[in-house]
Amino acid sequence: MNAPDSTPRRVLLASRNAKKLAELRRVVDAAGIVGLDVVGLDAVPEYPEEPETGATFEENALIKARSGARATGLPCLADDSGLSVDALNGMPGVLSARWSGRHGDDAANNELLLSQIADVPDERRGAAFVSACALVVPDGTETVVRGEWRGTILREGLGANGFGYDPLFVPDDAAAAGRTSAELSAQEKDSLSHRGKALAQLVPALAALAASD
Ligand code: IMP
Repeated sequence: MNAPDSTPRRVLLASRNAKKLAELRRVVDAAGIVGLDVVGLDAVPEYPEEPETGATFEENALIKARSGARATGLPCLADDSGLSVDALNGMPGVLSARWSGRHGDDAANNELLLSQIADVPDERRGAAFVSACALVVPDGTETVVRGEWRGTILREGLGANGFGYDPLFVPDDAAAAGRTSAELSAQEKDSLSHRGKALAQLVPALAALAASD
């Protein structure tokens, strides 16, 4: 790993989401990785927004990470994530952020989800949050990992933490004790979530980056 007084290695997270940036920084800190300076897109105005045209989370994560690495010359990490509902054959999936037609409108997306599965009985309201994370290094090395988090969709929202579909999602994990993911602390969510699981698989690659020249 880098000596404490050496210049930290910059890594770009291809996201403007402050919560994702904070989450990645917590993962890096918790893994004891020193010598990485994780920055978001707000720090690199030269990033070209690319349309997320992939059919899978993995393809979209790679589109974003390749674009960031190409534009900046920095190692670039990107996450693409969403909710896959069993009773809707995996929808909204890669459309999760823009399902209602307005990108990032969590209230409208949650309302649409509730209406789409209003008639689905409790025992068939299973779903999974999915996260694909891609790390692209300018030398051409690409690593793609995936994390999943199973749970059940409620009939009304509970909790004020998190974002997106969190108020409607009760994780299967005993540690969640029947709370929605919007009722978990950030640290509890990191330890259970799809993104936490995906990022954990990238720790060796991030540690290697921190140790490289
Ligand atoms: P992305 O930022 O383009 O990957 O879009 C992800 C979308 O999936 C978000 O806008 C949310 O609707 C949903 N999503 C992904 N991860 C989570 C999560 O941890 N909690 C709640 N919703 C999530």
